[in-house]
Amino acid sequence: MRAHPAGPAHGDLIHPAAAAAPPDDLSELHPAVWPATAERIDGVVHLGGMDVRDLVAEHGSPLYLLDQADLAARARTFREAFAGADVYYAGKAFLSVGFARWVASEGLGLDVCSGGELGIALRADFPTDRIAMHGNNKSDAELRRAVAERVGCVVLDSYVEIVRLADIAAAAGIRQKVMIRTTVGVEAHTHEFIATAHEDQKFGFSLSSGGAAEAVRRVLALPSLELVGLHSHIGSQIFDTAGFEVAAKRVVQLLADIRAEHDVELTELDLGGGLGVAYTVDDDPAQLHRFAADLRTIVAYECGRHGLRLPRLVVEPGRALVGPAGITIYEVGTVKPVQLDAGAVRHFVSVDGGMSDNIRTALYDAAYTCVLASRGSDAEPMLARVVGKHCESGDIVVKDAWLPSDLEPGDLLAIAGTGAYCRSMASNYNQVPRPPVVSVGGGQSKVLLRRETEDDLLRLDAG
Ligand SMILES: *Cc1c(COP(=O)(O)O)cnc(C)c1O
Repeated sequence: MRAHPAGPAHGDLIHPAAAAAPPDDLSELHPAVWPATAERIDGVVHLGGMDVRDLVAEHGSPLYLLDQADLAARARTFREAFAGADVYYAGKAFLSVGFARWVASEGLGLDVCSGGELGIALRADFPTDRIAMHGNNKSDAELRRAVAERVGCVVLDSYVEIVRLADIAAAAGIRQKVMIRTTVGVEAHTHEFIATAHEDQKFGFSLSSGGAAEAVRRVLALPSLELVGLHSHIGSQIFDTAGFEVAAKRVVQLLADIRAEHDVELTELDLGGGLGVAYTVDDDPAQLHRFAADLRTIVAYECGRHGLRLPRLVVEPGRALVGPAGITIYEVGTVKPVQLDAGAVRHFVSVDGGMSDNIRTALYDAAYTCVLASRGSDAEPMLARVVGKHCESGDIVVKDAWLPSDLEPGDLLAIAGTGAYCRSMASNYNQVPRPPVVSVGGGQSKVLLRRETEDDLLRLDAG
């Protein structure tokens, strides 16, 4: 596994490499992978009732699209599956002012982990009592702002921060609600998890070494902090509840220890995010209602064993809420056949974006599904690699893609599952302006984030 800027707990497993046989139908938009309203009309991909060629004509290429209907259905499913629990959307997956407003209107909470994310939430008038502030190195300024804005909860990550926040809250005359982030010694990605005795990573307080119990002692001794619960986040792109089961067992043990030592029953248990999505038809994430039911059963069982009152459950989906609702459209610039050792030919298909708008393939060897979007084709499949326009040979969007062999410059490609961790991790590498994010529904499009321009880039340049 390679490094991730947000820590190893956020990486994905490296995907098995080789391309399998070509799919039977190159033009299929499989419902497990594509957003709800994705369809072909006369061969052309439509999303939200709009022709992708028209969308590109209006908004340019590359282009991130979000399917409003798909998003609404996902939010509803989360609300229903986790009824009685709190669902906090992890804003790092994708955030804009308009999107934050939508999250609020759906009755969800919001996780932020920087001053910038908090600033967007505030600009959106997000109800601050439904905001949780995360991060392993929140600055004084970020903490002061969070306290002053009456953020609902700050998730504490270090001893230094406990004192820092207590002083800031005391100075503001506020009793700040907090949770303690625990490191449960479980690391989960896709369908595998590892439970280790000690945890070699930067987030949270270790359970096994007693660090979390000590953090509880220190917080309970500080009158400006109100400890409401424990937090655990074990990874991302997880397909089942096995890792959560071990995590819940360990965190609930600490709840029981806290009651024994302090005669306090904490009322909230936050099991973080991490629910996986299907990037390709080979991915098989748990069905959400099932996943939620399993999680509840696990927590209820563990609390029952210790005779603890059932705490309020909190979950923090990022990817699973927004990822599958988004697609990226690119225009093909060149198609270059390259002879492979085995005599096979791979066609390098260069598109007008790449690692600046989707770093996940370069960073984690992520797998994506890709189709020709601007027309139908009956041509034979060709083994392709969809690459970007950046000055890196690792600038790959889709490592192994089967595309029609009549693909040519000017064709549009659509990549599924790019709603999460694409625009939010985008860069200006090679001084490429970042693409816009446009939401589509009912035959209409709405710009959430406009396209960057060269002027935007130069605005930061002191000359
Ligand atoms: C990243 C993160 C999430 C969301 O993770 P997903 O895999 O996108 O669901 C939730 N909680 C915390 C604390 C995180 O860091």
